[in-house]
Amino acid sequence: MKHLAKQFLGVLTILVLVSTTTTASADDFTTKDLNDETILALSWVQNSAEFKALAFQAFNIAKLRWDMDKKRDKKCIVVDIDETIIDNSPFSAGLIGKNYGYRDSHWKQWCIAQSATAIPGALYFLNYVVKTGGEVFYITNRKAQPPKTMDLTLVTMNNLKALGFPQIDKKHMLFRTGSSKKQFRRDSITQMGYRIVLLIGDNLADFSESFDGQTMPEREIAVEQYKIEFGSQFIVLPNPIYGNWEGAIYGGGKWYEKSSKEKSDIRIDTLRKFKFSK
Ligand SMILES: [Mg+2]
Repeated sequence: MKHLAKQFLGVLTILVLVSTTTTASADDFTTKDLNDETILALSWVQNSAEFKALAFQAFNIAKLRWDMDKKRDKKCIVVDIDETIIDNSPFSAGLIGKNYGYRDSHWKQWCIAQSATAIPGALYFLNYVVKTGGEVFYITNRKAQPPKTMDLTLVTMNNLKALGFPQIDKKHMLFRTGSSKKQFRRDSITQMGYRIVLLIGDNLADFSESFDGQTMPEREIAVEQYKIEFGSQFIVLPNPIYGNWEGAIYGGGKWYEKSSKEKSDIRIDTLRKFKFSK
């Protein structure tokens, strides 16, 4: 009898331990769990033919608009780099299974590897612009600033040159040396006497300072305001992996200080959901 009671107590202890462990892990939402939430977006970018079709569509419309512009003046296009003309999705996919988020040191490793590939349609269109009398300016938030360890100028230029992009030189490449906002750099191009025919990007802030707002309502109002420009002066590439849209769903500001659990909860809370009857 004493033996049985001892065995029962032993089983009970194991059960209590198991249930405690289960409860603890259910609440313990990690950065790895948050990273896992991007798997479908990454798979779509890397594996769907639809992503490629949308990229071709973007650059086909860009070509149509460029050809419609008959003026023979000092004209140019302005393009963003990351997720607009080159694909960095392997960098983001590298975070799957890891328990940390974006880090400058890892981004630097990826950039040094110069492994980014061209977005479908980008190479042809940018070279077409130059062949038909235009110039291409690249405005990127890749850094060329202290600390020196984050100077990504050379590796980025080498990556783009190797892919065959045109006008990869100091005049045409405007890296980030201060603010991430791009209006100042866009202005510097018009101040040199250029007329910007088209702007191409994956993030609304690539087009106008009117999109520098950080909240969802601010961004939505600006999009409504500029709706005529999309497909005419502004050409957008799809990026479901990252962008200012993500910070906006967390409310903007210092959203990056939120915990992985908070971010995941907000992602779910900001969805419009149909309520099933059962
Ligand atoms: Mg970009």
